[in-house]
Amino acid sequence: MDRFTGKVAVITGAARGIGAATAERLAGEGARVVLLDLHGAADTAARIGPAATSIACDVTDQAAVEAAFAGLDAIDVLVNNAGITRDNLLFKLPKADWDAVLAVNLTGAFHCCQAAQRQMVRQRSGKIVSLSSRSALGNRGQANYAAAKAGIQALTATLAIELGPYGINVNAVAPGYIATEMTAATATRVGATPEEHQRSAAGRTPLGRVGRPEEVAAAIAFLASDDASYVSGQTLYINGGAR
Ligand code: NDP
Repeated sequence: MDRFTGKVAVITGAARGIGAATAERLAGEGARVVLLDLHGAADTAARIGPAATSIACDVTDQAAVEAAFAGLDAIDVLVNNAGITRDNLLFKLPKADWDAVLAVNLTGAFHCCQAAQRQMVRQRSGKIVSLSSRSALGNRGQANYAAAKAGIQALTATLAIELGPYGINVNAVAPGYIATEMTAATATRVGATPEEHQRSAAGRTPLGRVGRPEEVAAAIAFLASDDASYVSGQTLYINGGAR
């Protein structure tokens, strides 16, 4: 497949995990990829080669996001993937951790959507795909993260309405448990090894295993491509059949 030949795709949080897998998938199908991450995404860019550009950019910093996007003469795809967790039960959740999670996962996506839409509206085309999560349905110890990820679904539905008239499709994916450094860190926090934590998640999943970043990347690539030309305002759950 070569669905992204001649297209420019911006992927946030592309240094590792789902973001890196998405960058590799889109580049593998012909895209020129612009990789944003806190400290850049040099390793991902090196794996991809000359089709990749790495930029250090904190998505919570609106001026930095504006500067990163200002240098691009075309933006065909935006993947809002940068995300963090700061899990805690509500009664001991520090306000700073509420703010940090909302800032990266939700406000960061707002900053990038606002910067990207200027170019996309001019082009009269574009695809935006944002990372929600199964946690948007509610997850113990993740009030901040669940609220941010539910916010992504509402942002997606609303931007699909606002940007649809300009030929821009806006969708989200909501993964379940995907084996990355994010879930490995969660395992450590609850006193389990990543393998133990994954086994327990697999046991709650109809497909009997956890997901891989490449499996989320494949769904993002579909939504970012013209194969999904009439799909907009949707959130696709990628969770091995879990309810
Ligand atoms: P990782 O933690 O493995 O990777 C996240 C990347 O985002 C890191 O490279 C991180 O940089 C970067 N990042 C963090 N903060 C910022 C910021 N302010 N600006 C720019 N980049 C930033 O996460 P995953 O790959 O697991 O997750 C990717 C997305 O998918 C997230 O939005 C996550 O919420 C979502 N998701 C993940 C699931 C999972 O099970 N893994 C399930 C559902 C949703 P650094 O390394 O420097 O911190």
